[in-house]
Amino acid sequence: MTAHIDIQSVSKRYGSLTVLDGLSLSIKANEFMVFLGPSGCGKSTLLRMIAGLESVDEGTIAINGQRIDNLPPGKRDIAMVFQNYALYPHMTVADNMAFGLRNINVPADVISARVAEAARLLEIGHLLERKPGQLSGGQRQRVAIGRAIVKEPKAFLFDEPLSNLDAALRVRTRVELAQLRNRVKSTMVFVTHDQIEAMTLADRIVVMNNRKIEQIGTPMEIYSRPASRFVATFVGSPT
Ligand code: ADP
Ligand code: MG
Repeated sequence: MTAHIDIQSVSKRYGSLTVLDGLSLSIKANEFMVFLGPSGCGKSTLLRMIAGLESVDEGTIAINGQRIDNLPPGKRDIAMVFQNYALYPHMTVADNMAFGLRNINVPADVISARVAEAARLLEIGHLLERKPGQLSGGQRQRVAIGRAIVKEPKAFLFDEPLSNLDAALRVRTRVELAQLRNRVKSTMVFVTHDQIEAMTLADRIVVMNNRKIEQIGTPMEIYSRPASRFVATFVGSPT
């Protein structure tokens, strides 16, 4: 279960502010694609449009060849992990993970099996009966990822999922995400302003700046052949 995502001439405006201006690119099935760019360049807006949480003003987004403009968010087979985790504070970890599946009437035994498997993968089995308020930031982040995994989505969307962790935990979680990627076969779309995250996680990187794509390439291509001064400066390549 995996998806290729095609973004064609997509623009987005908030009032008179143009946030994205004619973006076109394709994300391959099973690819780990990282969108890298400074704060405010429109990364979250683009993810939210793919997830269906934001309308597309101009252009099209298609998942496995099907235009998503008319697909309700619940029918897109996509799971998003938010920067602030967005867990339900009054529910246990297990219920947080199960909630989305109960909503779409997945049978209870299938839900428990998926929650148990995700908990094993993320090593949070001992936390299932706790509430989010009783968890550390790193643990909450695992629960948020677990909640996405149990949906068995065709694509995962990550919006700066490591940015609220301290430096040591960020490094560890980055390594774990890379490992997770090998176990959960799915398309990964990952947004960050952190060059090292992009370089270590990505199959390909989309460098964004000022409403547009500056460059798309493998980490090695971006680093060794930056297409513009901005890319060279932002990824710290030698010039
Ligand atoms: P990033 O995730 O790269 O930091 P965002 O996609 O969050 O960037 O935001 C891009 C730009 O759009 C910013 O200038 C931001 O202030 C603006 N923006 C984002 N969401 C809204 C909104 N709902 N209404 C108005 N402006 C917005
Ligand atoms: Mg953002």
